Amino acid sequence: MPYVKMSYCKKCRKRVGEDEDVCPNCNTSLIGNRTDKAPIEKKDIVLYDKSLEELKKFSKKDIKSFKKNSFTSKFPIIACVILHFLTFGIFTIIYFGLKHDKLPKIEKDDPGALNAILLFLIPVFNIYWAFVFWLRLADRINFQYKLRNEKEAVSKNVIIFTLILLIISPFHLIIGTIAMISFIVMIWNIQNSSNKLVDMN
Ligand SMILES: [Zn+2]
Repeated sequence: MPYVKMSYCKKCRKRVGEDEDVCPNCNTSLIGNRTDKAPIEKKDIVLYDKSLEELKKFSKKDIKSFKKNSFTSKFPIIACVILHFLTFGIFTIIYFGLKHDKLPKIEKDDPGALNAILLFLIPVFNIYWAFVFWLRLADRINFQYKLRNEKEAVSKNVIIFTLILLIISPFHLIIGTIAMISFIVMIWNIQNSSNKLVDMN
């Protein structure tokens, strides 16, 4: 069997034959518009873990849609911290939950704001949900940074550390205090990264 080189139309990314001059799918001339890079399927890939190099394989249109976010106004970090304590955490869940709606839905299971907030109302499940809520928010914000060639801004380690401490804190005063400080660091980190993203847009 002869060796057939894989070839794709650069414009529509459909597979094309070696002897074709015009793409049968989108009618673009294939002269200078051929690529051997296979298109990446968006589904079933955890895009948040991909390097910028790998992400560059996507079309400009895809990258543009990945970069779309509605972080348009800043909010003081200190106000977030004060409102967190004044509202016993309700402000935090709603305000940071709404951030999920401001970010592009890249993965199928990226939650919308309403789901993100309401799932906190389910007892026991909400312990698991807290991890998904915060870690995914970190992934989604960090992804925006990565697409802009910036270092990841939100620390997932701080989130994991904080949440584990919060789970065990009701039984221990000192751990409870550390958990509270750690939580402030976590909110600080995320709000600071959100505010910086406003400048990058
Ligand atoms: Zn084409």
